[in-house]
Amino acid sequence: MWAIADVLGDAVTSEVAAAWDEVYWLMANALINQERGLYSARGVRPETVWRQWKVEKKIRETHDVVTFVVKRTDDRLVKTSLPGQYVTVRMTMPDGVLQPRQYSLTRADDGEHRQFSVKRVHGDGDDPDGEMSALLHDSVSVGDILTLSVPYGDVVLDDSGRPVVFATAGIGIAPVAGMLSHLAKAGSALDITVLHADLDEPSFPLRRQVVSDVLELRRAAVYAWYEKSTQSMEPLNGVFQGLMDPTAVDLPDNALYYLCGPLPFMQAVRSKLLERDVAPKDIQYEVFGPDLWQADLD
Ligand SMILES: Cc1cc2nc3c(=O)[nH]c(=O)nc-3n(C[C@H](O)[C@H](O)[C@H](O)COP(=O)(O)OP(=O)(O)OC[C@H]3O[C@@H](n4cnc5c(N)ncnc54)[C@H](O)[C@@H]3O)c2cc1C
Repeated sequence: MWAIADVLGDAVTSEVAAAWDEVYWLMANALINQERGLYSARGVRPETVWRQWKVEKKIRETHDVVTFVVKRTDDRLVKTSLPGQYVTVRMTMPDGVLQPRQYSLTRADDGEHRQFSVKRVHGDGDDPDGEMSALLHDSVSVGDILTLSVPYGDVVLDDSGRPVVFATAGIGIAPVAGMLSHLAKAGSALDITVLHADLDEPSFPLRRQVVSDVLELRRAAVYAWYEKSTQSMEPLNGVFQGLMDPTAVDLPDNALYYLCGPLPFMQAVRSKLLERDVAPKDIQYEVFGPDLWQADLD
């Protein structure tokens, strides 16, 4: 209301101010009610959303990705997660402002731990470095306490038994690593194809975990596309040079597709799949930010 008065100046008569006030509360109440609905759908009481976790491991994955393994600090039951969900990490920034950021869970639940992986966001030109990713990389160590929300997210693995194809780039592997971990833990016999794009093998985050889960699964394969060098030490099913072309490998019929990575990557992969007559409804995607993609699609 202060900003409205500041920008509109004298135009804000008491009648206009009352109208803005009414609209503000209409919108606020709509969102508050929607949030209440989300809590009750998940059986969560608002006071149990946030919980403290102790950093047990901080693992360097690649030059710009670290994985955090955190352990519960009390005896309360740990809310289970669905494959593909994320948690929100809440931290006080150096300027004193409390900030939330979302991070996909990269390993299946064990009742005690959560695991997530964070890519450092570098500034570009005048744009600053990412606030929370820098703080997590530089200032959070083993033994520190982090505040995490309960898991959430609606891009989750479909359990209909249809073949699944994952197409990811860079840190976009994170939710897929979580899904593969759930599948491996469940001893799944689902037909799984993992397609991953990166600069080169050392840049492929969570690579060892993903490859070992794929090996454990009975009907899974993993293919990589590397821009810089196709040198590989991992038992992959195929390595290609350049940008990902999902049609370069045999894709199963009637598959469900999950895409995660930068927007241009997802747009390019989606176009190739549509050319191959994959139905749009069979392509799901996770955007690591505000989902403005749909606006471009329609
Ligand atoms: C569902 C979901 C799941 C996610 N999962 C993961 C995951 O598993 N791993 C992961 O690493 N990330 C994940 N993310 C992204 C993550 O939540 C954060 O967005 C990311 O870590 C960046 O946060 P930050 O605080 O470091 O950057 P921010 O400080 O939020 O900055 C973000 C960008 O804005 C730019 N910027 C900031 N201020 C300005 C300014 N004044 N002018 C111009 N530009 C500016 C920065 O340069 C940067 O490019 C996920 C996001 C979502 C929504």
